[in-house]
Amino acid sequence: MDYYIFLSERGDTVNIMTQVCGIIIILTLIVFYATQKKLYLRTEKSFAAMLVTTLVMNILDILSLVGIKYMGELPEIVTVFLCKIYLLAIIVIGSSELLYVTKDIFSNTAEYNKKMLPYKIFIVAGSVAMLILPIDIYSEGMIMYTYGAAANVTYVLSFVSIIFSIILTIVHREEMNSDRRTAVLIWMALWITAALVQLFNPELLLVSFASSVGMMILYIKLENPGMTINKQSGLFNHSSMTEYIQQHFDVKKSFALSSFHIDPDANEMRGCKFNWETVYEQLNTKNALIFRKSEDEGVLIFENDAFAVSWEDSFFEKIKNKDDDNSTCFRHALWTSIYDSMAFADANELISFLKYAEYKKADNIDQRLHIIANKENISNMRREKDMERLINDALKNNTVEVFYQPIFSTEKKKFTSAEALVRLRDESGKIVPPGMFIPIAERTGKILELGNAVFENVCRFINEKQPQKLGIDYIEINLSVVQCSDEKLAENCIAMMKKYNISSDMLNLEITESAELRRKDIFMDNLSKLKSYGISFSLDDFGTGQSNLNYIVDMPIDIVKFDRGMTNAFFTDKKARYVMEAAMQMIHGMGLKIVSEGIETKEQYEKISEMGIAYIQGYYFSKPIPANEFYEFVSKMNA
Ligand code: C2E
Ligand code: MG
Ligand code: MG
Repeated sequence: MDYYIFLSERGDTVNIMTQVCGIIIILTLIVFYATQKKLYLRTEKSFAAMLVTTLVMNILDILSLVGIKYMGELPEIVTVFLCKIYLLAIIVIGSSELLYVTKDIFSNTAEYNKKMLPYKIFIVAGSVAMLILPIDIYSEGMIMYTYGAAANVTYVLSFVSIIFSIILTIVHREEMNSDRRTAVLIWMALWITAALVQLFNPELLLVSFASSVGMMILYIKLENPGMTINKQSGLFNHSSMTEYIQQHFDVKKSFALSSFHIDPDANEMRGCKFNWETVYEQLNTKNALIFRKSEDEGVLIFENDAFAVSWEDSFFEKIKNKDDDNSTCFRHALWTSIYDSMAFADANELISFLKYAEYKKADNIDQRLHIIANKENISNMRREKDMERLINDALKNNTVEVFYQPIFSTEKKKFTSAEALVRLRDESGKIVPPGMFIPIAERTGKILELGNAVFENVCRFINEKQPQKLGIDYIEINLSVVQCSDEKLAENCIAMMKKYNISSDMLNLEITESAELRRKDIFMDNLSKLKSYGISFSLDDFGTGQSNLNYIVDMPIDIVKFDRGMTNAFFTDKKARYVMEAAMQMIHGMGLKIVSEGIETKEQYEKISEMGIAYIQGYYFSKPIPANEFYEFVSKMNA
């Protein structure tokens, strides 16, 4: 009971213990908050305003009590004024807390202002009414409080703000940062508890104190430096970067961005000791904010594109001559520059561009690469995004289709197999060729699901139509290198074949040689498991960029597929003809069979079949066609 103010020589006291504690908490928070590194994000600004309002409220709380105690000696108007501005502070706190909550939910400023307008009018009108309406003051020993119309209006307004905040927090929980959601709910619970306690024990004035504790919770959970700062580097982190960018988009303010992606492994492999501190020292510029986006990516944001251009120019110039200096580590880096943020539809799209650039970098690890967000790159990214959506929709809606291209056996003079080729349709129902989406599915990893859908489709077709009865010995299915590097591939394929009761010799899997093969052990393991289960393999795309003869020797294959380019070159280029003949001889020598792809004319067909090539595939016989058409085709042709 030490926290009393002695008001007069009469020895009258006022208990202000809770308010003093509240003030101490708030002052401590203000000191912490003022000294921490900030980005001045929207929520940061409203948090700062709330800190100040809570401080003012605690002080006014004390002042109003002093006013009440001195009621006899002071002019009545002074006491009434002090009590009313204290009530006003309560209203302001309640409503600013609601506004703080909603900042997260409605990022679009115009929409936000429109939606919140009725509420704001309600609060302002209520506050005016509170100021005009009469107030009653109770003061008996230690018990002092206000009641009457003005006080009731205050309770109603605060209650509305609290209830509204709780409802919004619950309804919009998905859009809300989950920490903010919990913090806000805890805070609200504190307020309600304090108000209830005060209602039944009028001498316990807890509301101001509860507000201060509420601010402490918000600080700890949401506004402390740990939320925006990367602990290792002391730089702003990924989530604060996202918020910062989002905020610029909300107010349509343009900015420029320069991101650098450094591959520590690539650098270290080449003897460059990697150290982020020196990296950031070299980057430092007062014209930009630096963010540590991820382990190996940093982002500089400039408020002005001219700053970005001139900074990059001088920085690139500086590091150009230092490429042999192992301390720079910028040799194996990817730079992505966005000079005009407004070229993007929204914040998400801009951030996706950084990711997009990163994928582009994957094919180019060995040098410094600079990708600029120009029209061409942005539209490429958008096209890829469309493809991603197409793939996801097809998988979700189960609309992956498989076409079949018949393969003709020159020995049996009939169609003995077919290649299964995946097809997706865009919204208008038009077929999108696999060349457009397979690379993207590979990059995003969706190829695993897509490949599985194709595999299941083919198994179902064989199970339902029994094409072996028409003379089809097996169906060829393309496997991406990503699928082959999936530990579960063999297991999944075998399970699927069991599910549809497919005999293992009905399938032939087409593999390709690829420089991107990272896990050759898994690849070989899959192949040997499937092989011992009885599945045969073809080597696809032979004759394109990466045809290594060793591959044919290493891989457990039965068939080599000559690519269309190679087949065509055979007819037009004398040298290519020698290469093809030599390859043929070698492949036949190893006891393997050949499929010649891309045969389009009768003349080509005749020439190729004279050469002793076992199988022919091409538009000359048929384009890839839907399952039913394929079934009809083979029924007719093999009859
Ligand atoms: P690929 O495996 O080499 O398939 C042969 C491609 O050549 C097919 O293109 C086929 O329509 C086309 N083609 C066949 N004969 C002729 C011809 O006489 N003239 C011309 N101009 N083209 C011919 P498509 O269906 O567009 O597939 C392209 C590539 O996409 C495939 O090349 C394959 O690498 C990949 N792909 C297709 N389906 C799948 C799949 O289910 N999974 C995976 N991972 N990749 C697939
Ligand atoms: Mg193929
Ligand atoms: Mg092929």
